[in-house]
Amino acid sequence: MAKKQQHQLHCSFCGRTEAQGATILPSPGEDAGICIDCIETAASMLGMLDGDDEQAGAVKRARATSRQTKGGAPEKKAEIKEIPKPHQIKEFLDQYIIGQDQAKKYLSVAVYNHYKRLDQPVDADGVEIEKSNIIMVGPTGTGKTLIARTIARILDVPFTIVDATVLTQAGYVGEDIESLLTRLLQVADYDVERAQRGIVFIDEIDKIARKGDNPSITRDVGGEGVQQGLLKLLEGSVVNVPPQGGRKHPEQPMIAVDTKDILFICGGAFEGIEQAIAHRLNSSFVGFSTDAATRRIERDRFMSHVAPQDLRTFGLIPEIIGRLPILTHLLPLDRDALRRILTEPKNAIVRQYVKLFAMDGVELRFEPEALDYIVDKAIEFKLGARGLRSIVETIMMNPMYDIPSGDQKVFTVTPELCAAQLEAAHFDAEAV
Ligand code: ADP
Repeated sequence: MAKKQQHQLHCSFCGRTEAQGATILPSPGEDAGICIDCIETAASMLGMLDGDDEQAGAVKRARATSRQTKGGAPEKKAEIKEIPKPHQIKEFLDQYIIGQDQAKKYLSVAVYNHYKRLDQPVDADGVEIEKSNIIMVGPTGTGKTLIARTIARILDVPFTIVDATVLTQAGYVGEDIESLLTRLLQVADYDVERAQRGIVFIDEIDKIARKGDNPSITRDVGGEGVQQGLLKLLEGSVVNVPPQGGRKHPEQPMIAVDTKDILFICGGAFEGIEQAIAHRLNSSFVGFSTDAATRRIERDRFMSHVAPQDLRTFGLIPEIIGRLPILTHLLPLDRDALRRILTEPKNAIVRQYVKLFAMDGVELRFEPEALDYIVDKAIEFKLGARGLRSIVETIMMNPMYDIPSGDQKVFTVTPELCAAQLEAAHFDAEAV
């Protein structure tokens, strides 16, 4: 090892000094140091710089952040500037999500508690606040993903959506459970500390329910095995995550991620769960009523009674249910809600088009009857809230093509225009 030169930083490995062109990372106290070249040599000896550059970069960044936290300095957590109070979270959600009050309220409280828990003083009084993951039950397209995504925005934490249907038990074709966290690491730019405080939204959790009563002869590649795997993540454990995901790079070095502070929000339609609820309540669910309004009221009535045992009846294993202690429901969107979704949320579809036209100096107006027409079509084609955008997109295609080249200053969308555009685009045939 080269001798230390006075007031001259040098590399303890190769002996070069800064004057000799070396960039040196000094140790605290500066009695030792290492230059960039020696760091690279050491890294390549560890295999970190071989092969896939992106992968090596990911591992390097991940190790760098974990070094920062494991080093001599006191552990610095990835901080959320200030945790908003439940009321503030709910008010923020109200700006983007129409209705679904119970779900918004439950999530506001759960998320507030979750991040408060992360800040709890260690060993203060022996009381340790446990993690409360969340499960949202409600028909598809009613705002489950939107709520989770909006919450992640207000908190500014890494957020990812994964689909439970792609998961399989280890050994089967499909994604390993651990790869759920790959996307989270990626959105956190491989900052492990930040990823460990992120939110994972697991969609279609109902699709991995045990198919015990299913007479299908195919093996239950989803089902209980996947639930067991998922349990490990929900409970909180250190898992080795493939930085590139999948099984395509079996040689890739894994990144250890601790899931104990990751908030998991699960969502599922649990189609037909109303019957299970009705059965439990010893009440009859008619469901065959010819009157759609009566059917809806019945369904909503039962949905608001959803309880953990109904999820069990549906085929989720009790251990998973136990790890998802916050259970809330979302209601189907009625005509009034769909109409409001068109115009009220902060980034409502109509507002987006008004902005697009304004950028061309054109004032875009929607007649109220035109909005009613759009909602009618979404209901007629059973497209729900998701369909609203494709309907408006279809209606606006020709105007968006023509208007920028014309000299019109105001453009008004009428029901007649809507009907004509949808017909011209054969929207009926496509949508149904
Ligand atoms: P889910 O996750 O329940 O299947 P999403 O949250 O993905 O449904 O909703 C699909 C889209 O429909 C959203 O991106 C949003 O544009 C719209 N949407 C659904 N529900 C609502 C709601 N309650 N308020 C505002 N927009 C909604």
